[in-house]
Formats: sequence, structure tokens, C-alpha cells
Amino acid sequence: MSLWFEWQDAPSGDFAVIGDPIAHSLSPKMHTAAYAALGMDTTYHAVRVPARDFVPALDRMRALGYTGVNVTVPLKELAASWCDSERDGTGVVNTLNLVKGTGVNTDLPGFQETVTDLGLESGRALVLGAGGSARSVVIGLSRLGWDIALFNRTHTRATALVEACAVPVQLLSEPSPAGCSLIVNTTSAGLSGESPDVTWNELEEGSVAYDLMYGNEPTEFLCQATAHGARGVDGRALLVAQGALSFEWWTGLPAPRDAMLQVVA
Ligand code: NDP
Repeated sequence: MSLWFEWQDAPSGDFAVIGDPIAHSLSPKMHTAAYAALGMDTTYHAVRVPARDFVPALDRMRALGYTGVNVTVPLKELAASWCDSERDGTGVVNTLNLVKGTGVNTDLPGFQETVTDLGLESGRALVLGAGGSARSVVIGLSRLGWDIALFNRTHTRATALVEACAVPVQLLSEPSPAGCSLIVNTTSAGLSGESPDVTWNELEEGSVAYDLMYGNEPTEFLCQATAHGARGVDGRALLVAQGALSFEWWTGLPAPRDAMLQVVA
């Protein structure tokens, strides 16, 4: 568990991750290790920012000297509307430059890197969830040639995602992994120790269950998936991939990925 601050109490600093909740984030540990590996005296904090305080919190952090922030749940859509960003089709942003007012979404290329590293042939994937990160997952998988089925607890949000992402997605009325070689959990259910519903008895043999979430212990989703025979993958590789791309966007330097991976592994 890392040290974190309420946005009203945040000290001056260089970079930070903001979101709500934030206590679980390994980003401070990982980015601090990256700057240390390059001999840079740069700080990176975790700051809790509820959605309603997004703009005043950014104003305060900019006044305190912060150059950039990573943005996590539930602020990625707000971040996209706050900044100028390259249009990658997701409508979300997870990395901001507070000085320039610009942003980028490193979740999309970061997620694609991690899926490619799984070494799977593209086939049919089940995506669970329809929040900010689901947009990166859906577009990322589609561009890698996957057919996508999607289930979200709130159907209207799933419909909105499909309209926003403009890639072919089959919306499901049941969370069935039938025919899928990859199941990606993009929900934040794990933050409260829960798993999204999945009809596990329809799981295909040899499939991979990928949870974007990570923690000290396997998430409930990964526990259920592996108990039903899937290969489980958690979100640490994605944490490093998207974090390394953010680091490079801010600094223009190659990120020391080995050092970053070592502290979160
Ligand atoms: P959002 O708040 O934008 O979306 C949350 C989604 O989770 C919604 O679809 C919501 O459904 C669903 N959900 C929440 N609780 C439950 C539940 N109990 N059962 C079923 N569905 C649920 O979050 P993000 O998309 O930004 O982030 C999602 C998760 O991905 C977070 O845990 C985040 O930490 C993780 N993540 C990890 C990354 C990494 O680097 N490893 C990178 C990006 C994200 P509904 O619409 O019905 O409310």
C-alpha cells in the first residue's frame, strides 16, 4: 500500500496519479523507481481526486508545480474533455501534461502490447465492462483483428460504448464466454473485492482470463477463472506498458522498463 494524499492536502511535486479510490495504485512505486534508475530527482505521488473535484484539483496541482498526471478510475472521460488530445477513437485520456494542457491515452497501445505478448491467435474475445478502460480494450482488440463480444451490468452504458467506439461489437445479454479464447475484465469490481458475473460453465478449454486490475492477491475474477481452468493474467504488465509510454511522453526519454517491472512484479 503506498502513501497517498487528498487533493486538498497534496504537497508540491512533479508527477502524480489521480483517481478515486487511489490507495491501491502501484504507479507511485513504479514511476519513482523509473526516475531513480535514470538518476533523476523527480517526485511522483498518489492523489485522491473525486470526479466532482476534477477541475479544481488540477488547478491546484498545476499551481503546486506538477508537470503531469496519470488519470485513473473514474476520471478518464473527464480528462479527455479537459485537454487537447490526439483522437484515437476512445474518447478517454489517461495521461495529462498540466503545463501544456495536452493529453494522451497510453492504455490503448499499452494494452495492445500486452495482448500481443500473450502469443494468442486473434479470435473471439469477451470484454466485461463498458467504462473508460473498456474503450481502449475494445478498440485495441479490434485493431489487432479480434472479434468482440461485450457484456456490461448496465446495458445502456454498453450501448453508448459501442456508439462511441465505432468498431464492430456484439452486445451480449448474458456474460457468456462461449466461443471466446480471451476474456478481458475491464470492470472495477475488483476494487471492492468482487468479480463481475460470468457464466463460467460455458468457458472454452485453454482460454485466457485477463484482469486489468492487479493487487497483492489474485482478484476474485482471476480466482474464479483459474478455478474453472482458464490461464489467468493480471494487470501488472499493462501497468508497466502504459506507465512506460506515459513516462516517455512526458520526458522524451526511453523508460527503464526492467526497473519498473521489477518493483511491481
Ligand atoms: P470506470 O469507472 O470507467 O468503469 C467501471 C466499469 O466497471 C463499468 O463498466 C461498471 O459497470 C463496471 N463495474 C463496477 N463494479 C462492478 C461490479 N461489481 N460488477 C460488475 N461490473 C462492475 O473504470 P475504468 O474503466 O477506468 O477502470 C476499470 C478497472 O480497470 C479499474 O479497476 C482500473 O484500476 C483497471 N485498470 C487497470 C489498468 C492497469 O494499468 N493495470 C489500466 C486501466 C484500468 P456499470 O456501467 O454497470 O456501472
